[in-house]
Amino acid sequence: MFARFLSPNNLSQKMLRVIFSIYLAVTCLITSVQFLTEYLKTQNAISNELRQLEETVRGPIATSLWQYNQTQLDVLVDGLVKMPIIEGVDIFDKHSKNKVSKRSYTQASTPLAIFETKSELNWLLNEEEVFLGTLVLYSSSEVVLDRLLFGFSLIAITTIIKVSILYWLFIWAFNRYLASPLKELMSQVDDVQLSQDITKRIHLSNIDNNELSQLQEHMNNMLATMESDRQQLLEDEQAKRTWLEDAVIKRTEELQSSNEKLKELAAMDSLTGILNRGSFFATAQHLFDLCKRQKSTASFILMDLDHFKIINDTYGHFIGDQVLIHFSHTIEALLRKSDLIGRIGGEEFAVFLPDIGINDARRIAEKIRKTIANATLDIDGKTVNYTVSLGVESSESQDHSIDELFKRADIKLYGAKDKGRDRVE
Ligand code: GH3
Ligand code: MG
Ligand code: MG
Repeated sequence: MFARFLSPNNLSQKMLRVIFSIYLAVTCLITSVQFLTEYLKTQNAISNELRQLEETVRGPIATSLWQYNQTQLDVLVDGLVKMPIIEGVDIFDKHSKNKVSKRSYTQASTPLAIFETKSELNWLLNEEEVFLGTLVLYSSSEVVLDRLLFGFSLIAITTIIKVSILYWLFIWAFNRYLASPLKELMSQVDDVQLSQDITKRIHLSNIDNNELSQLQEHMNNMLATMESDRQQLLEDEQAKRTWLEDAVIKRTEELQSSNEKLKELAAMDSLTGILNRGSFFATAQHLFDLCKRQKSTASFILMDLDHFKIINDTYGHFIGDQVLIHFSHTIEALLRKSDLIGRIGGEEFAVFLPDIGINDARRIAEKIRKTIANATLDIDGKTVNYTVSLGVESSESQDHSIDELFKRADIKLYGAKDKGRDRVE
């Protein structure tokens, strides 16, 4: 108990140390005052007893003095000194000369405090009192303490018992009403923290409606707020994630369609909307391979607008562009869906005709030439006529690449130009 009192290891023991230190200090103070009062009272009582003794022995001592009977005086003084409350006796004659001096203690064992009573020794002679001397009786603090010892031992023992019982009662009460609920609270808070589960709530057993129950309520409110905040946060996050996923899907779709459009644009000629040179030759090669596999003939028509430079120079580039558009639309209208049309140069066009032999190809070419030669364009109030020269070739069994067809058709086209233009060769 004492070790725990000196070095407390929990809140209740610390509080008890403060309370009991104050309690002990106050008890010691009150007991000291009580002791001092009792001491003075006892000393007073002993002084009174000394005075009564003086009354008793004054007569015989005065007689011995009057008769100069030293032996009797010594016997009387010896008897007095042996009494428990008397520590010493002095007798002085009328000239204040010490006639007898006796002590029950030695020089070495002199008591702490000595007190005395004095009375005059008189002899009645012819009804007149004759002063013989003075009788002094001494007593000491030890006599007083001897008397007080028992009573104060009793007080000390009962105080110690009282303090011990109170200390243990206080320990029990503090543990029961403060330390235990606090420990339980801490362990439940630790539980929540370790399990990361804020849906848990704190439930202290054995608590009354006091600050601890209010603390429990406040902590539970805090947990409830945290729980709803987290729920809100999760919902927000989910909403954000859904929004983000939707945005990504939408964006991907947009990108896919843009990609398709880009691919289309990359394959097309921007002015006429028909295949450009690269995609025309790639597709034509592919179709040519298929025809070869099926051992069918394919034809190639190469076309170049005649004196197009002059059209540009005469009417301007805008009208030149309209002529190019007109030409591409015209041949598109004249051909099958399965025929491949491409713009392979400034005013040069090519047509790949799968499953078409040379005679049919020539017929188609002639149809194109005629249609163009007969067409009259009205653009911005200007009337434009133009012609086209065409070189026609059909595939042969030894051809492996579309380039071979193209080269032969090109030679034919040059021939058509040489022979005066607006011709099919
Ligand atoms: P030829 O009968 O011998 O083919 O004579 P040509 O004038 O048609 O041939 P040339 O090669 O001398 O001229 C072709 C012209 O086509 C030159 C060029 O300015 C024009 N051209 C090429 N591409 C375009 C285009 O996209 N728009 C316009 N307006 N003109 C173009
Ligand atoms: Mg040309
Ligand atoms: Mg030309």
